[in-house]
Amino acid sequence: MQNAGIADLALNWRYLAFDVPPEKLRAALDGAKVMGFVGLNLTVPHKLLALEMLDVLDESAQIWGAVNTVRFEARDAQGAWRPVREFDSIPQQIRSHGFNTDADAITRAIREEVGMELSGAKVLVLGAGGAGRTAALKLASEKPREIFLVNRTVGKAEAVAGEIASRHPGLRAQVGYPPGQVDLVVNATSVGLKPEDGLPFDESQFRLSRANAVYDMIYRPAETALLKTAKSAGCRIANGLGMLLYQGAKALELWSGRPAPLEVMRRSLEKNIYG
Ligand code: NAP
Repeated sequence: MQNAGIADLALNWRYLAFDVPPEKLRAALDGAKVMGFVGLNLTVPHKLLALEMLDVLDESAQIWGAVNTVRFEARDAQGAWRPVREFDSIPQQIRSHGFNTDADAITRAIREEVGMELSGAKVLVLGAGGAGRTAALKLASEKPREIFLVNRTVGKAEAVAGEIASRHPGLRAQVGYPPGQVDLVVNATSVGLKPEDGLPFDESQFRLSRANAVYDMIYRPAETALLKTAKSAGCRIANGLGMLLYQGAKALELWSGRPAPLEVMRRSLEKNIYG
């Protein structure tokens, strides 16, 4: 996806994957600075560890408490911080600037691919791990009517509900299954990744006939048991590919300073993931 986007923008860059053990993350970030990297993405568990290691955090990283995108910057002749891509040679003093492009990608994908207006919606979020927490907090910021949180480890859902309550005192965020109809179900559990996986909720407590739309963060397989069942129940559905695409597109925009070629990136992602 990134290399297709980079090629379309005619940039002389490459996007590469590196396995970095958590205890070496600081050294890797320092090395990236020294080698003149334009930027990088971080994935679990580095998204949280990097919060303590980066020189400056964008508001997005501060609000969502995680960093998935880093841009390297240096001072220009006037002393202003500029992306290193704007310098002809690798500057002496470089700072790392951390961003979060995940949270906006979740709501963009839900809006554009499920066609759901989040303001005033009644939402059920399944899962309270890293992705579930970010999704719940981001959804809570969109002025929904009510949010229900369900997680295998109940204490984690309670912690997220507590965070929502302190950020949005007027909003009803409850742990447990919702009564009646819901506008949107978001699956942020890893249930569905394996072919033998069933539904990520307790069928004695909730049924998809009570949901209007279902967003599954999982994109491989393209259609999980959840999405298949939701489709049969008449729900609007989308898988997690859009979320992956939009966080990556925003990262490329932060690095390049130009609009990301979204359709080129989407086609590359689909080709790489689904063949
Ligand atoms: P994580 O922090 O490890 O959280 C995993 C979540 O799944 C937790 O809520 C966990 O519950 C739950 N879970 C795991 N096994 C379960 C089981 N057998 N029964 C019930 N619940 C179970 O992982 P994450 O980073 O949040 O990722 C969660 C999902 O989102 C994954 O499927 C991942 O592929 C997907 N994701 C997609 C994107 C995208 O771009 N589309 C990005 C990030 C993540 P406990 O708390 O009880 O362990």
